[in-house]
Amino acid sequence: MLKPISKIASQVQASTTLAIDAMYKQMKARGEDVVGFGAGEPDFPTPERIKAAGIAAIMGDHTRYTPASGLPSLKEAACLRLKLDCGVEYTPDQIVVASGAKHNVYIALMTLCNPGDEVVILAPYWVSYSEMVQQAGAVPVIVAATEAQQFKVSAAQLEAAITENTKVVMLNSPSNPTGMVYSREELQAIADVCVRRNVYVIADEIYCNLIYDDLEFVSFASLGEDVKERTILINGVSKSYAMTGWRVGYAAANKQIAKVMGNYLSHSTSAPSTVSQYAAIEALTGTQEDINAMRLEFQERRDHLVERMNRIEGVSCLRPQGAFYVMMNMESFIGKEMYGQMIHDDVDFAKLFLEKGKVATVPCSSFAAPGYIRWSYATSMREIDKGLDRLEQFIKNA
Ligand code: PMP
Repeated sequence: MLKPISKIASQVQASTTLAIDAMYKQMKARGEDVVGFGAGEPDFPTPERIKAAGIAAIMGDHTRYTPASGLPSLKEAACLRLKLDCGVEYTPDQIVVASGAKHNVYIALMTLCNPGDEVVILAPYWVSYSEMVQQAGAVPVIVAATEAQQFKVSAAQLEAAITENTKVVMLNSPSNPTGMVYSREELQAIADVCVRRNVYVIADEIYCNLIYDDLEFVSFASLGEDVKERTILINGVSKSYAMTGWRVGYAAANKQIAKVMGNYLSHSTSAPSTVSQYAAIEALTGTQEDINAMRLEFQERRDHLVERMNRIEGVSCLRPQGAFYVMMNMESFIGKEMYGQMIHDDVDFAKLFLEKGKVATVPCSSFAAPGYIRWSYATSMREIDKGLDRLEQFIKNA
């Protein structure tokens, strides 16, 4: 009998959404006409100028190691964007480049947490947060907001969840899965609590460029020096520049934290691919017109999806302000039978919707939002209409 493997590693859960995704892929492989709304990535290709920069990096022999926490010129490019898009000033020694924003969140947690520390996660939340907290040996404490609160946790709720063991608060605005954006006042109230109770904040702002209706984006770190000092700001090129596969993210933090995060990287993954880093420099420093065009396209899709969804009997959704997700409320079907099967929760509904309706979505139980199904509109208008037509039929024929 072999010795048991790591307790911490064994606790990490396979994603609960994986079962549905596996079913979707199987159906597709069998040639079935299924429509997918599960994607967490833009459907647009990476803009030409960025691809060209990647190719030029290869042809120019930029194919060796870079410093573990990233190329100095990429750190400068990140500082430029943080200044222009987020209104916060950082110096390159405060920037840590990693293999995707997800990895930045991970090393931030590894840098901040001791075993047993509590990490408060503002929910509904991106499912990987709680798993990463546990990988750091820390304890996730989920504080969830309801739809009536626009899925935004109040400062009072946060304050009630903080104990003397709380080390970090995790905040994501614009949010995956809700698409909601915290306002300046809401963030200020949260920041006041974090400063008063002396906790760090991991502010994941990866969707900062995907905000609609000219709504103001407020970066958490911009709320004052005392807030910035305790904030690890997370950003990256995946979502804004349609670069999910290039694997480049960055974090900005105080110098001490940035240095330790860099040390951690230097003995684990080192820096992301050098070619990807050169492409990311072009993404961050070149024209930003292309990403604005993608944003406007997302906005049109959102408007159409939300408007049509709210006309379908039995379901509803809020109008999200950012990212590319819509949370559909399906609570009216809980406890009812559909196609001869009892619907206990959003997972049952999503499974049946895939099986009978031929549409793949993501149930939100694992995001601390039971009763909701997440639709990603990072797909064409045609597919969106097809999915909604099928939703109508699925409900009508149940
Ligand atoms: N943060 C959030 C909230 C996300 O939704 C995602 C992607 N699903 C990431 C981080 C990870 O992005 P990256 O591709 O840069 O690792």
